[in-house]
Amino acid sequence: MSAHGTADGVAPCPAGTPFSFELYPPRTEAASRALPDTISQLASAGPDFMAVTYGAGGSSHDSSLDVVRRIVRDTSVPVMAHLTCIGSSHEQAARMIREFLDAGVTRFLAVRGDPPVDAPADAPLGDLKSAAELVQLIHRIQAERAPYREIPLLGLPHASVVGKAEKVTIAVGAFPNGHPRSRSRSQDIDTLLAKQAAGANLAITQMFFHAEDYFAFVDRARVAGVTFPILPGLMPATTPTVLRRMLDLSGEDLPSELGIRLEVEPTDEGRREIGIDYAARLAERLVAGGAPGIHLYTFGRPRTALSVLERCGLVDTAAVGS
Ligand code: FAD
Repeated sequence: MSAHGTADGVAPCPAGTPFSFELYPPRTEAASRALPDTISQLASAGPDFMAVTYGAGGSSHDSSLDVVRRIVRDTSVPVMAHLTCIGSSHEQAARMIREFLDAGVTRFLAVRGDPPVDAPADAPLGDLKSAAELVQLIHRIQAERAPYREIPLLGLPHASVVGKAEKVTIAVGAFPNGHPRSRSRSQDIDTLLAKQAAGANLAITQMFFHAEDYFAFVDRARVAGVTFPILPGLMPATTPTVLRRMLDLSGEDLPSELGIRLEVEPTDEGRREIGIDYAARLAERLVAGGAPGIHLYTFGRPRTALSVLERCGLVDTAAVGS
């Protein structure tokens, strides 16, 4: 295998291919201590943005806001705040959006969130029933805040036009292999269309394992009229435990070849190598096939995410000090 690119004939990603990271608010003392280093390592790679997840029902409200504020304060990388709406009243959701806007956020990822696993089937969802409604609320609150600007017209001393409000990015989730609760493939596309109609302008996918699944989903979305970019979300499976966790989170089927290779490999280093190589090869195929960039779920392992990007030719890990 070469230093950059992989051995199966897929070209490394072209220089300048956008990439981004997703961070989780720390849940342990050790993760909290490592946070400043994690942020600085990821930021120094030059991502397009860093996204910070948000616990459904507001369970990580303070820690998510803290990570967001740190990224704004300590780096020049734009931050994307995930927000969830399940279980919130209108007032609570509006207050949450204002807090994140106050923290300097200009990009959001609006997701509904899931009810607690032990919640009864008829538990109320809250005032906002879907991610699309949260997208609309973010737009409304953002518009309230956009400064009113008048732009003078050249040559007409007393005339002016109202300047356009700055465009915020509002991303939404997309599910190449279907949302686990979805009744049909067409329901997933209809939901994405509803999010677009509500004003979303980017989608980020749930993790998946096969490039063909992504391309087939994008094709179906385009035929149905979805026009915004659909950014593939990837996560390297570096141990059988990580792979099981990914399957639990995403509801994906076990990619049997990867599962077997991770199970039979005897060393930690070998398993890490298998996971990084699999993710890098997938990223190269996706970009070669037209994906607009790569979004990496980091799960508190910045070096692994950076190694995937190095393997695709996008980052020199020595230069970013990992
Ligand atoms: P929605 O799009 O609102 O869909 C929820 C369900 O309602 C779906 O079954 C959908 O088909 C149905 N539905 C929606 N709109 C309509 C409609 N108009 N008509 C009929 N049916 C409809 N969870 C977190 O708690 N925190 C996070 O930070 C987080 N980040 C995520 C990031 C990404 C990239 C992704 C893909 C998921 C993330 N999730 C996160 C998980 C997400 O909250 C769950 O997958 C949740 O079950 C669905 O969220 P959604 O935004 O897709 O919901």
